[in-house]
Amino acid sequence: MTRPFCYAGSPAQIVFGNDSIGSVGAWIAKAGRKRALVLSTPHQKADAEELANKIGELACGVFSGAVTEAAMKVVLDTAADCVVSLGGGSTTGLGKAIAYRNDIFQIVVPTTYAGSEVTPILGQTEGGRKTTVRDAKILPEIVIYDPSLTLGLPVAMSATSGLNAMAHALEGLYARDRNPISTLMALEGLRAFKLSLPKIVTSPNDTDARSDALYGAWLCGTVLGAVGMALHHKICHTLGGSFDTPHAETHAVMLPHTAAFNAAAAAAELSQAAAIFGGSIGGGLWDFSKQIGAPMSLKDFGMTEADLDRAASIAVENPYWNPRPIDTQSIRKLLQDAWEGRRPED
Ligand code: NAD
Repeated sequence: MTRPFCYAGSPAQIVFGNDSIGSVGAWIAKAGRKRALVLSTPHQKADAEELANKIGELACGVFSGAVTEAAMKVVLDTAADCVVSLGGGSTTGLGKAIAYRNDIFQIVVPTTYAGSEVTPILGQTEGGRKTTVRDAKILPEIVIYDPSLTLGLPVAMSATSGLNAMAHALEGLYARDRNPISTLMALEGLRAFKLSLPKIVTSPNDTDARSDALYGAWLCGTVLGAVGMALHHKICHTLGGSFDTPHAETHAVMLPHTAAFNAAAAAAELSQAAAIFGGSIGGGLWDFSKQIGAPMSLKDFGMTEADLDRAASIAVENPYWNPRPIDTQSIRKLLQDAWEGRRPED
């Protein structure tokens, strides 16, 4: 039976293909923009400068910092009428933070699998708490996926970034506001990563696997942008916001545990995903993470066992929907398993 649903397609323009980075200038022109500010991290500054050179006279500068206020000043000083965010979720986040303030036109050229480029969501950490805001202004207008840019993404980051994306798809499968398209995209995204990540780990230059993984990133990110998330994202925000654990790695460690936690309550919704990972969703994802060399325990991030009590109480502090009801005790146990890196049973 098809359950009732609402569906709205994303208005973002998606461009996918090897060497599509060469088309950034043409897309700027097509959008009627004349002054593009290229954003990057300091680590990817040289790539950003190369992109600005390629864009030519439509580029007005490069900003390779992280502070939104400093970036806003450069946007004003250069009279930029669009930003081109080249990089992972952090750089995309900077472009989004600017757009949230002044609605600037955004083009994103992603170089990780985080998926932020196709969501209208901006994460903000204030006073040790991570919150998110959703707004149409935040959604980037154009996304240019060029798999060749991900060939240099280190294997360890490829694995954790891929698992970060897979978490969006997994939670999308049981989202209350899911629709037939988000479910198709989530399953296809999980399949794309199941197929590609093990190949990338053994052959990082496998161009076919790289393009499959980036395709998975688009699918999983689109699911995150379209439907609501639950326990998994809430816990990862708690750990990142209050304990400063690394973003993608935290998603990687937590995913098998949160999936196992919800396995029985969302058995029908997760059945096809479970089949992709060998029959048991939590255990299957744990085996997959191990196979691709992802971090397996919260202990590895310097969290102490004593931190887990506080993490559990922060994670349940503002009630939110989850397929399985949440209480401090069960979350504390889930965190203990993740801290120890134990294979979940579901
Ligand atoms: P990142 O953007 O923080 O990148 C980590 C490092 O890797 C940076 O130094 C970056 O320059 C470098 N890097 C990126 N691509 C590379 C490549 N191809 N080769 C070599 N180095 C490369 O990491 P991330 O995991 O992509 O993003 C994490 C951030 O994204 C977090 O802040 C998270 O909250 C946010 N995020 C937001 C959403 C959303 O929808 N709002 C979704 C997912 C993630």
